[in-house]
Amino acid sequence: MSLVKNFFIALSNNAFLNNTAKKVGPSLGANKVVAGSTIDEVVETIKALNRKNISVTVDNLGEFVNNRQDAIAAKEAILDVMKAINDHQLDAHMSVKLSQLGAEFDKVLAYENIYDIVAKAKSYHHMHINIDTEKYDSLFDITQTLDRLKSEFSNVGTVIQAYLFKADVLIDKYPDLRLRLVKGAYKESPYIAYQDKDEIDQNYIRLIEKRLLTAKNMTSIATHDHRIINHVKQFIDDHHIDKSKVEFQMLYGFRSDLAESIANEGYQFTIYVPFGDDWFGYFMRRLAERPQNLTLALKEFVKPKTIAILGCVGLSTLLFSLLYRKK
Ligand SMILES: Cc1cc2nc3c(=O)[nH]c(=O)nc-3n(C[C@H](O)[C@H](O)[C@H](O)COP(=O)(O)OP(=O)(O)OC[C@H]3O[C@@H](n4cnc5c(N)ncnc54)[C@H](O)[C@@H]3O)c2cc1C
Repeated sequence: MSLVKNFFIALSNNAFLNNTAKKVGPSLGANKVVAGSTIDEVVETIKALNRKNISVTVDNLGEFVNNRQDAIAAKEAILDVMKAINDHQLDAHMSVKLSQLGAEFDKVLAYENIYDIVAKAKSYHHMHINIDTEKYDSLFDITQTLDRLKSEFSNVGTVIQAYLFKADVLIDKYPDLRLRLVKGAYKESPYIAYQDKDEIDQNYIRLIEKRLLTAKNMTSIATHDHRIINHVKQFIDDHHIDKSKVEFQMLYGFRSDLAESIANEGYQFTIYVPFGDDWFGYFMRRLAERPQNLTLALKEFVKPKTIAILGCVGLSTLLFSLLYRKK
């Protein structure tokens, strides 16, 4: 993994920077990839995408939840978004993280929270709830949660990270669930995950093909990689895969022209729309994936509004690298 990638992943994990950035609101270019701070703003974004025949999965951003009150507040905030989606009859569902619901300090509470969300979603015309995958340490919690929920609900699914050696096990385990397939966004050990980009890409393609041939539910191919998208389209044609059982997904603000052209070709398309004040970790992971995304931030550098947070980020980064070098 490159130094640049390590650097941005480390920033994404820094609680102080995340909390500082929260006070400022989406900034440094993050406002191009985060759809505002309020439900009204995200509703407008969803409406605009729906008009283009594009569905949405909403992420009410939240990181570093480490107390009961914040975990319950996160659940309530997610329920509010779901209500807005239902009230406005939008074509949208939710992506949630178990860490946001308390899984890092109280697994029982996290389960109660996700249960309430999935149960409410069911009452909203079976709205889908996707449990996003995070660091490998939390994967066991996700599978345990899914195993309990899926005996009662069919409107829940998760994400398979192709960099994991054990991704195959999950594909085999959940043919009946709606699954999103991604390359994987976190820094993982070479003992459990491929590190080489080509190896990850090859495994990703292999897993997509396996899933498309065995799935009994929707498969979401979530990537900005046009080479992989083209390969998948060809595979769908060659193997007569039912197009109602497969969709492409991209993140809000990235490759919008490509997303629209794929949707216009008749493929189902969903955009992952994050919103809220807790934007920093999400944005740093996007910079880690593709340092060219820094151009989003560079365009904002000249604006005076960003100077305060830049100073803070710069100072903290310096402190962080000094500490890091000592280890
Ligand atoms: C909808 C969605 C949901 C996700 N959910 C999760 C999750 O739950 N857990 C998780 O770990 N990860 C998640 N991810 C992140 C994912 O794991 C990858 O880290 C991320 O998508 C980057 O990989 P990529 O497949 O887009 O292509 P990359 O490997 O980043 O890029 C491959 C190639 O595609 C082209 N390309 C990529 N981006 C651009 C661009 N912006 N402009 C022009 N060309 C570009 C370039 O040629 C590049 O070399 C999600 C991603 C998406 C899209």
